[in-house]
Amino acid sequence: MIGVAEKLRSGVLERVKSGVLDVLFPVSCVWCRKEGRYICERCELFVSEAAFICPMCQKTSFSGEAHDWCQSRYGLDGLASVWEYEGVVKRLLNMVKYQGITHAAADAAEKAFHVMTRDQERFASFLEFLLSPGVSLAFVPMELRQEKRRGQNHAQEFAKRISRIIGKEDPVPLLEKPKKIASQAELSKEERLRNVKNAFAFTKKGGSTGKAFPRLVLVDDVWTTGATMRECCRVLKKAGAREVWGFTIARTS
Ligand SMILES: [Zn+2]
Ligand SMILES: [Zn+2]
Repeated sequence: MIGVAEKLRSGVLERVKSGVLDVLFPVSCVWCRKEGRYICERCELFVSEAAFICPMCQKTSFSGEAHDWCQSRYGLDGLASVWEYEGVVKRLLNMVKYQGITHAAADAAEKAFHVMTRDQERFASFLEFLLSPGVSLAFVPMELRQEKRRGQNHAQEFAKRISRIIGKEDPVPLLEKPKKIASQAELSKEERLRNVKNAFAFTKKGGSTGKAFPRLVLVDDVWTTGATMRECCRVLKKAGAREVWGFTIARTS
C-alpha cells in the first residue's frame, strides 16, 4: 500500500510541477501554435503511424518481430516505432532533443503509448513483451560531454516516461558511449555502420552484468538506419542479455 500511496504522491507532485510550468511557459502546439498541447488535436490528425519493419533487414514485418531467417545471436529480436519521422512529430522530437524540454518528452511518450494501446492488436507482440514481468527498459546513451552540455539524454527521458506509464522502475544506464563519434546524420548507410562499430560499451558503473537484465526494450527517439540500435543491442547481448526489442517514438521511411 505504501508503494501505491507514494506513487500517487509523486504523481500529484508531478502535476503540480507541470501546472506551475504551464503558467510560466504556456504549452502550445509545435506546428500551429494553438495553446494547450504540444500536438493539438487537429494537427494530430495529420500524423502518420509507422509500419512495422524487421530490425535486421528493414523489410516489412507483420508484428515487428525479426524474421525467423534474420534472427541472430546478437541481433535485435523486434522493433516497434510509433510514428513516421516527419512534420509535427519531427518538430516535437527535435525540440526535445535540442532544447531539452522534458515536458514535451513526457507528452510525446504518453501519446505514443496511447497509440499503442489504441491499436493493441497491431502492437500485440511488442506490448506483450514490454509488459511482461522481468522486462526492463534500456536506452541509447549519449557521449558524456554532450549530455552535460544538453543537460539530459532524450532517449533516457523517453525510456523513463514509458517505464513510469507502465509502472516499472526507472531505467538504469546499462550502456555508455566513451568517446565522441561523428554525427550519424551526414553519413551514408555504410559509413554509419563503421562509425558506430565499438562506439558503445556495457557500463560497469552499476556493478551489474547483462545477465541481471536478460530481457530488454532498448529505447531511442528515432530509427533511421538502425545502425546505432543494432550496435547497442550487440553490446547488451554480449554482456548477457538474451532478448532485446527496439522501441523508437518515430522512424524515417
Ligand atoms: Zn496544431
Ligand atoms: Zn528480416
